[in-house]
Amino acid sequence: MRRKLAAGNWKMNGTSAELARLTTLAESHGSAGCDVLICPPATLLSRAAEALSGSAIAVGGQDCHGATSGAHTGDISAGMLKDAGASHVILGHSERRADHGEGDALVRTKSEAAIAAGLTAVICLGESLSERDAGQTLDVIGTQLEGSTPDGASGARVVIAYEPVWAIGTGKVPTTDQIGEVHDFIRTGLTRRFGAEAGDAIRILYGGSVKPGNAAEIFAVSNVDGALVGGASLKPEDFGPIIDALE
Ligand code: PEP
Repeated sequence: MRRKLAAGNWKMNGTSAELARLTTLAESHGSAGCDVLICPPATLLSRAAEALSGSAIAVGGQDCHGATSGAHTGDISAGMLKDAGASHVILGHSERRADHGEGDALVRTKSEAAIAAGLTAVICLGESLSERDAGQTLDVIGTQLEGSTPDGASGARVVIAYEPVWAIGTGKVPTTDQIGEVHDFIRTGLTRRFGAEAGDAIRILYGGSVKPGNAAEIFAVSNVDGALVGGASLKPEDFGPIIDALE
């Protein structure tokens, strides 16, 4: 039985003033009936971990470098994230694929580095609107899944997030049939590659305009094991009800 996961991606939002929101979330959902993860900007990571200590809410990074250390100005290694209190890291988010030209091979290298450092990699996949309109969704997802996921993936160390690019931050959400089709396809790909036991243990999150008003319907879809939430994770009054819908 896969434990559900509500993961919040703060993206490039949040300064010290917003740390109080974590205290509020810890008070209301610090021991939720599902796993809860907050990925703040790197500048807040260690203070977020402190604010959430004593609660069951985990913290994660939003990216890491593929190397353990070295001459990579501005980058952060997986070990540094772990040292700052992170247990997870989001990798291959479509905004990084677009803004930084990250491809599947690099995402896979970063995932391997994350796992080697003891983190859980939350690996993002998703098709663009033109790819969906062209009927290429499953081809795109299959290629990204194969190319971005490291060998030997396990439920403890890898989470997959299906995030259609056209649904992120737009208020547009695929139909539940469309979500189910992709999640079932990912599940089949995972069990084929990693075997029935490991492939079945890897959680598959849906991400893209999840809100309190649509969360329950999305979470009822087969093979949806939780959500990766952007905008609605910034406010406890929005993220709280999404967590509630998962419990
Ligand atoms: C995301 O960026 O991962 C995301 C799902 O964003 P939003 O929930 O705002 O669409």
